[in-house]
Amino acid sequence: MQLTQSHLDLLVCPVCRGALVLRAGAVDCLVCDRSYPVEDGLPILLAARALQPDSSKSVSGTS
Ligand SMILES: [Zn+2]
Repeated sequence: MQLTQSHLDLLVCPVCRGALVLRAGAVDCLVCDRSYPVEDGLPILLAARALQPDSSKSVSGTS
């Protein structure tokens, strides 16, 4: 099953309950900027798995 934005409209960020947006291979929270991985088509909405852009500089490049 393909994950689509319509699925994310039913879900919220587990940390701040903000809206989620689908990106390539990840799900981003629009409120707190955390990024959640997508594995096997399922978003892993766990705070422990979230990537925080402010604390991780491992992802570089412009979008
Ligand atoms: Zn959030």
